[in-house]
Amino acid sequence: MKCVACGQEAVAVCRFCGRAVCSEHVCQGPALVLPAAPSTPADKPAAGLQVDGAVWCGLCHVKAIGRA
Ligand SMILES: [Zn+2]
Ligand SMILES: [Zn+2]
Repeated sequence: MKCVACGQEAVAVCRFCGRAVCSEHVCQGPALVLPAAPSTPADKPAAGLQVDGAVWCGLCHVKAIGRA
């Protein structure tokens, strides 16, 4: 896979949109919150994992949305 920015061999894939990026163009994305495990009981507050420094291509636009 090639970097979307320069065409060099990619070393990572954007966590948000799936574009491939090389080590030069990889960015640190916004904090990423992963949903809780499906087995979480409904009466407990949903737990999640926050990932800081996720791989980001820097090209896609990431924004927070409210829970449905
Ligand atoms: Zn690149
Ligand atoms: Zn992206």
